[in-house]
Amino acid sequence: MRKPIIAANWKMNKGPKEAAEFVTNFKLDASELEKVDVVIAAPFVDLSVLVGNGFGVAAQNCSDQDSGALTGETSVAMLKEVGVEYILTGHSERRSIFGETDALINAKNCKILDAGLTPIFCIGETLEERESGKLEEVLKTQVTEGLKGICNEGILNVVIAYEPVWAIGTGVTASKEQAQEAHVIVRRLVAELYSTELAAQVRIQYGGSMKPANADELLGQADIDGGLVGGASLEPESFHSLIKSAVATVA
Ligand code: PEP
Repeated sequence: MRKPIIAANWKMNKGPKEAAEFVTNFKLDASELEKVDVVIAAPFVDLSVLVGNGFGVAAQNCSDQDSGALTGETSVAMLKEVGVEYILTGHSERRSIFGETDALINAKNCKILDAGLTPIFCIGETLEERESGKLEEVLKTQVTEGLKGICNEGILNVVIAYEPVWAIGTGVTASKEQAQEAHVIVRRLVAELYSTELAAQVRIQYGGSMKPANADELLGQADIDGGLVGGASLEPESFHSLIKSAVATVA
């Protein structure tokens, strides 16, 4: 049984004051946390405000290097020191705006796992790629390259976020059928790299305009193990509503 994981991606929103306000208004029951892993991926300056409140905390980026003359970078060890447990990798905004390659994303995934933290490894196709029939090819390259060198034990500590680029921040959500189909492809790709048994244990989240109005049907799909949520995670009530939808999928 895969435990659902609902992760907020605040992107470059909220400073420490707003993060503290969010925490004040965001109260989870122990029974919810038992059933669902809840994570907030926030700007670096918010991380120490968020740590220690019952939910997991994620950084939105890290360096693939340990230390050195790398102005503006933050190492995995530094993030671990402040209590971060998860780090986003491969988000489409980092790929498209900051030019991150599959090789760099792979190096970050390995560095994060080596430190005992969990990468939330994002993959997904553009609209053009989908419409030209390249969905599977794109996912295969991203999965194969991003997971290179990660052992059987390592893959169980990776959370994959399938995020169709055309659905991120656009208000357009993949239908439940489109999302489920892509999740099945991703799970099959993981099975080809590892084994069916291991792939069955890997959590794959859906991301792309998930909101309270569509969460039940998306989270109700057999291969969708949670969500990575941007816009709808910025208000405690709507983020909490998504967590409740995930709780409802757990018997
Ligand atoms: C994201 O940032 O990963 C995301 C899915 O954003 P949104 O929910 O706003 O589409």
